[in-house]
Amino acid sequence: MPGIMPLNDAQQPRAHIIKFTNCLLAKDNDLVPGDLLINSTTGKIIDGQKAFYEDRLGPEEVIDLKGRILAPGFIDVQINGAYGLDFSIVPEKAKGGIAQYRKDLAMVNKKLIETGVTSYLPTLPTQDCRVYHEVLPELCPTGDARNPKLGAESLGAHCEGPFLSPSHKGCHDPSLMQTPSHGILDVGKCYGWENMKWNLIKMITVAPELPGALDAIRDLHTYFKDIRIAIGHSAATYTEAQAAVRAGATMITHLYNAMTLFQHRNPGIFGVISGPPSSLKPYFGLIADNIHVHPCALNTAFHTHPAGVILVTDAMFLLGLPDGVYRWTSGSHIEKRGNELRLQETGAIAGSCATMIECVRNFVAGTDASVGEAIARATETPAEMLGLGGTKGVLRVGADADLVVLGWNGEDGVGVVLEVEEVWKFGRRVWGGGEVEGDSADEVVEKEGDKTGLEEAFEELEVEKKWE
Ligand SMILES: [Zn+2]
Repeated sequence: MPGIMPLNDAQQPRAHIIKFTNCLLAKDNDLVPGDLLINSTTGKIIDGQKAFYEDRLGPEEVIDLKGRILAPGFIDVQINGAYGLDFSIVPEKAKGGIAQYRKDLAMVNKKLIETGVTSYLPTLPTQDCRVYHEVLPELCPTGDARNPKLGAESLGAHCEGPFLSPSHKGCHDPSLMQTPSHGILDVGKCYGWENMKWNLIKMITVAPELPGALDAIRDLHTYFKDIRIAIGHSAATYTEAQAAVRAGATMITHLYNAMTLFQHRNPGIFGVISGPPSSLKPYFGLIADNIHVHPCALNTAFHTHPAGVILVTDAMFLLGLPDGVYRWTSGSHIEKRGNELRLQETGAIAGSCATMIECVRNFVAGTDASVGEAIARATETPAEMLGLGGTKGVLRVGADADLVVLGWNGEDGVGVVLEVEEVWKFGRRVWGGGEVEGDSADEVVEKEGDKTGLEEAFEELEVEKKWE
């Protein structure tokens, strides 16, 4: 049987080098004037000097950004859905079933990347275990294909539940929450061992005070090194949260929301990011939509542990849909006004629909973070937390050329308005600024001829939810 032969020079795909010039590069927590070179054939950032002097290659295309910001693509580690699709809801058979879900997911990936999110963790809240078994394979990592036409890349799912505390349920269904009394055995049974083994899951949020949870965290950390463990929806005391961090938890899910709050004698979960310098401090998500967390609280968290901040949208299926009243469960309704989602009946906050660039803008406006620091919290820091430092979230030689071009005005962060003007995925422009790779989401809808969840939602302005 013939072996696999290495390609000779003539067979190697030809490098296509693009130089971005006159940029403000978002790197090292700062904005630094400079150029960046990428190879759009490999989809990687390259060393221009090496390409020129060793490989005799020069840029075939030069793009003058005229002082605009060139940043790594955003990475959202908590997003529940968008454009009418909830990642945890497969339509009934009569409405297309799993085939429709796949179609909607493909459309969401193409739309989501237009917001600057080039990679993300599709997030599943507390559900019946059979839902995880059904949808986790659909939400699997998509980066191996290195295909920019697929849109935003899944890095694997974030399972936010069901091992959470009913006392801090947020908008999860407490009747579906579980106690991991048998530790990791209960976790594997619920999500499916295969789904864990094949890295379809990238992060799990657990309430560490539940019986068996600490053992589960310890074993997950030992046997599933690529899965990140987060503390969240939890009544944990400081001591319980500290034990979870020592057992292997490296993240806190949406700090402040759905957890014990800081008190001077009982610092709660917040305490683990405010300990002495020698203590282990986890990363923490912040929903910077200015609705879930007040800007003062954002600033407090930033000052407490600046390197730990990870901006998340925690957006749900209403992201990208027009304002209006949408049907919710049990006959209730959600009113969407801008980024504010409230239960019409009670006025309670019913989720988020902010985009990542809005979160970055809010973080710049509401905290002492510079523009460079805020961008890093949506790019480099989440990549580090996920163990992808050096590959994602940085403008470094060898990293994936997932990029956003941000237009901006204002000086030194005062009155700054950042806008996503172009998005690049694996070295190809996929949105904004001229010729783009692949079909837009709208063109895909037209070609396929069928209605997507987005279209239906626009038509009816009502989307049914199966969970609370
Ligand atoms: Zn949550």
